[in-house]
Amino acid sequence: MNKKVVVLGEVSEGSLRNVSFETIAAAKAVAGDGEIVAVLVGESVKSFADEMIHYGADRVITVEHENLKNYTSDGYTQALSHVIESENPEGLIFAHTALGKDLAPRLASKLETGLISDVTEIEQQGEDVLFTRPIYSGKAFEKKTIKDGTIFATIRPNNIEPLEKDETLTGEIISSDVEIKDLRTIIKDIIRNTTDGVDLSEAKVIIAGGRGVKSQEGFEPLHELADVLGGAVGASRGACDAEYCDYALQIGQTGKVVTPDLYIACGISGAIQHLAGMSNSKTIVAINKDPEANIFNVADYGIVGDLFEVVPLLTEEFKKL
Ligand code: FAD
Repeated sequence: MNKKVVVLGEVSEGSLRNVSFETIAAAKAVAGDGEIVAVLVGESVKSFADEMIHYGADRVITVEHENLKNYTSDGYTQALSHVIESENPEGLIFAHTALGKDLAPRLASKLETGLISDVTEIEQQGEDVLFTRPIYSGKAFEKKTIKDGTIFATIRPNNIEPLEKDETLTGEIISSDVEIKDLRTIIKDIIRNTTDGVDLSEAKVIIAGGRGVKSQEGFEPLHELADVLGGAVGASRGACDAEYCDYALQIGQTGKVVTPDLYIACGISGAIQHLAGMSNSKTIVAINKDPEANIFNVADYGIVGDLFEVVPLLTEEFKKL
């Protein structure tokens, strides 16, 4: 069946997030031969419209306003509600990012529709679209379908491959005339206290440190390895609680959920709450001096050793490649 599906492209700090292209691929799986309409919201987002089209969007609607420069719940809800009302799509696909996790339930409630969150796989089964999502902190997966009303889902970053980019593709780009008004919150500026360049939830490589890293300085070798591999540094809650790093780096049940191609866990024991955030990583390498550490039960490769010896050796070897 052919459906019209709206996706939200995420523009953050002046660039279009990779997961935006993954939402287009996910939408294709829902839409069949239907239409993919991409929405871009922000202060100045028109320049990203062509890229959305090159990755498979048929049409792009931009909503631009100075008060939409930084995400706010009510600003984006106004923008998206207006677009959804005028487009009346059969499906909506957003990213399961901090933004999507806040916005999608709010919109679902406004639209009086259901929401399938944190989807990792989408497949057609006859007339139905089946969505796979992890449950019980990643210990099991469930498959769900929506039989009635709007199909609304958020997809976990790094799980659904974007379609191949084709710069010959063309599509219509429309500026929305929605009036953004009476906002309760306007974010004027964001001041960060972490300087990491690569976004943790979208990183292809993550070097994560635990309590075994022992201090703030102990994270330095991890940063060096991450720089060589073009990755991001993450952490266990143990490391965050010990004030070795910022909570923004926490991975796990109460932190970020990540699915990189490569996850290197350094001095992390592998508590269930940590595994909940990283066990679906494609390749897991664990470095721990305790051969009985639980992290080895989920690791593809295990190195029993002192991380302060192993990590610099890895950095040196990767530098040679
Ligand atoms: P530890 O368990 O202390 O492990 C440190 C490891 O480092 C050990 O295995 C040790 O052998 C190894 N080590 C020490 N020195 C070295 C060395 N030189 N070289 C190599 N290895 C070394 N945790 C999370 O991570 N994320 C969450 O989101 C999260 N949410 C939670 C939610 C709840 C409700 C609760 C109750 C807990 C949560 N936790 C979470 C905490 C979790 O239970 C663990 O306490 C935490 O993950 C432990 O962190 P760790 O592995 O860094 O520390």
